[in-house]
Amino acid sequence: MSKDAKDLSTAPPRRLLDILSASTGSALMLGHVHPDADVLGTLLALGLSLERSGWTVTYAGPHPVPSVLAFLPGSDRWQVWNAAPRRFDVIVMTDCPNPDRSEGLLEGARSPSSQVLNIDHHPDNRRYGTENWIDPTAAATGEMVFDLLEALGRPMTPDIALNLFTAVHTDTGSFRYSNTTPRTFRIAAELAAAGADPSLVSDRLYQRRAPDALTMLGRVLSRVQLSPDGRVAWLTVPRGLCSDAFLAAEDLVTYPRSIEGVDVAVLLREEADGVVKASLRGKGRIPVNRIAHQFGGGGHENAAGCTLRGTLEEATAKLLGAVNVALNGTNS
Ligand code: 5GP
Ligand code: MN
Repeated sequence: MSKDAKDLSTAPPRRLLDILSASTGSALMLGHVHPDADVLGTLLALGLSLERSGWTVTYAGPHPVPSVLAFLPGSDRWQVWNAAPRRFDVIVMTDCPNPDRSEGLLEGARSPSSQVLNIDHHPDNRRYGTENWIDPTAAATGEMVFDLLEALGRPMTPDIALNLFTAVHTDTGSFRYSNTTPRTFRIAAELAAAGADPSLVSDRLYQRRAPDALTMLGRVLSRVQLSPDGRVAWLTVPRGLCSDAFLAAEDLVTYPRSIEGVDVAVLLREEADGVVKASLRGKGRIPVNRIAHQFGGGGHENAAGCTLRGTLEEATAKLLGAVNVALNGTNS
């Protein structure tokens, strides 16, 4: 998107502002599976802001904060749940298009009278909230929560700014992807002015690899494959090849994506026996979320994902078949 998306973006709905304007309340900030910086940064930013005005806030999700994101202020408060311990009056979910991605925690935490605030930038959001604010023109949910806090007149503290800056930074691939707009830079500038340190974020995300990470990276990168026409690059990662910490810290799909001429890049990672997690990336020619949808997944036009059943080889063949159909209209 090269033009300023600001005019197409939607302002926070009145009802959402009314609910969050209350001077006290209690809220659950609920994350989705394998939380990334956009979901964590927005839940922590909004939660910290509500706490400043007297709310009681619980932060939780089905999976822990990856160690690379432990620098996000408030992440030490994150709880990992198998089941929701009680029901909450207000539940906020961010960056989560599909309630199933809470692994049942939303159903356990919501009662018929709960307010469920669904704040997201995915175009395929299922509008499962009692309030749904969906803005696919936002590069990151971080941009939306920035606008939300402004609309609420809440102070932008350095801790809140760092959370939101990291959310925007990661979802735009460090301000490099096509979702980066003038709005992104305006918000990033405001966040930097409010105390988010861009060099600290880059340092924490990219300059703190474990000593063995480059060995694993070498092992993994030697597995990148390219289709004969050069339009598809993929990488398969069998279980046991690399540590979970390494896989959580590295955005491995960026490597096949970086090859010139590639229209679709795929990372297939064996998560458990018969369970393969796929990440898809496009470069504007093929909407990869349409491919992910065929396997029950979702995402954005240029970044999507899904989970496949079968061996790594079977999942790879299935997914590459669908990519081929999307590119050429044939499965061969
Ligand atoms: P990633 O490949 O980094 O895991 O995810 C890229 C994008 O695809 C994110 O916007 C994420 O929300 C979405 N995504 C990834 N995996 C899934 C999935 O299994 N289901 C759905 N609905 N979306 C996914
Ligand atoms: Mn996001």
